[in-house]
Amino acid sequence: MKITIFGTGYVGLVTGTCLADAGHEVLCMDVDENKIARLKDGEIPIFEPGLESMVKSNVAGGRLDFTTDPVAAVGFGQLQFIAVGTPPDEDGSADLQYVLSVADTIGRHMTDYKVIVDKSTVPVGTADRVSQTVAAALEGRGESIEFDVCSNPEFLKEGAAIKDFTHGARIIVGTESERVMRLMRECYAPYNRHHEKMMFMDVRAAELTKYAANAMLATKISFMNEIANLAERLGADVEQVRRGIGSDPRIGYSFIYPGCGYGGSCFPKDVQALAHTATEVDYQPELLNAVEAVNFRQKKTLYTKLAQAFDGDLKGRTIALWGLAFKPNTDDMRDAPSRTLMEALWEAGATVQAFDPEAMKECRRIYGERDDLVLVADRVQAVKGADALVICTEWKDFRIVDFDWLKRQLSTPVIVDGRNLFDPQAAKEAGLMYYGVGRGDSL
Ligand code: NAD
Repeated sequence: MKITIFGTGYVGLVTGTCLADAGHEVLCMDVDENKIARLKDGEIPIFEPGLESMVKSNVAGGRLDFTTDPVAAVGFGQLQFIAVGTPPDEDGSADLQYVLSVADTIGRHMTDYKVIVDKSTVPVGTADRVSQTVAAALEGRGESIEFDVCSNPEFLKEGAAIKDFTHGARIIVGTESERVMRLMRECYAPYNRHHEKMMFMDVRAAELTKYAANAMLATKISFMNEIANLAERLGADVEQVRRGIGSDPRIGYSFIYPGCGYGGSCFPKDVQALAHTATEVDYQPELLNAVEAVNFRQKKTLYTKLAQAFDGDLKGRTIALWGLAFKPNTDDMRDAPSRTLMEALWEAGATVQAFDPEAMKECRRIYGERDDLVLVADRVQAVKGADALVICTEWKDFRIVDFDWLKRQLSTPVIVDGRNLFDPQAAKEAGLMYYGVGRGDSL
């Protein structure tokens, strides 16, 4: 099949590359000329394990190409995927300007039947708005060309995006059209061979499914952080509680790790957008608001613990950070807890000395050159001469540490472990002042 993808971010680039790898012909379009130029040169603008070689082999195989030309993009595929960003607006609602701009582009340039596939995470009712936008653009040209709009939300996780796309638990398509069902089946056939993964449902249900999934996962995280905060005050170790409840199959072990709050480009904005949608239909989203409020507070926990360790005075201190990305295996720092911490430290007059295996460039791009941000080449240099160490991201490389060595590096032996990577007892026995999240007497 010939397929066009609008947007070459985490979702668009992975979708386009995987569909090309499955044998389709794919043209990816982006308005960012720099991104497209880099992709054409074989350079991948994001870090995603396995993606670079897959892009290169499919470009070499002639199945994957990139363009900034909207006319070529609309002319290319019968399927037109919209995978552009839907960032939060000031009121928390999803900003649909990029999605609707693509819809307008399609309406202005299409010359034959198209299926427009909403892959971006968009509020319930967006398919109707996309449809209206395309129809209005066609009407402006005095044309009447048939098209359909369907919803095909994406569930991939950054860091495991290729595996999630190719081996996802389900492929959801919101449509009532038999023709669209047939075409979407053809598109995903290579990934639907082992067992039936395609779920067809109505468009609104598909749109809501994406928000419900992310809100559920965010709820599990905030719930566990609430329990961690309680455990801390009650003298219990939340890690033992986690194992205790995770063993119940009705609860399960995934997404119940206590920590310094969720970040990234999806959970924060999607919980807020769903809460906003609720208020638009006169429903008070008590639970969603609480999930968001607990997370907001949790992201401050690293700073609170550090400030307590230094009697509230962090001025002139150097704080080592291990991890900047919002989670391991990505360079994405959108809404990362590390940002909440760094900004609070700078406000307090401290210097940050940080290392992340992939997010250093992104950190520099966001904050620029500044005296109180020192980015170093590895985790060893990050702790050299620092007063304290904070773990913000649970990268595998950070899990094993020689505590005696660490104690010699830090001028005040304070560790704030925002991901509960270490055994508090072992850290304390080595003479470190260890502060985890919800680890009983570690506060
Ligand atoms: P991103 O910000 O990484 O990429 C979006 C891309 O769209 C950018 O390259 C931008 O230049 C491009 N763009 C903007 N306007 C355009 C236009 N008019 N035409 C062509 N390109 C345009 O975003 P992302 O993380 O890939 O997310 C895209 C959507 O998928 C969002 O709605 C997001 O919520 C959803 N989603 C993201 C993830 C994730 O893990 N990142 C997972 C599932 C769903």
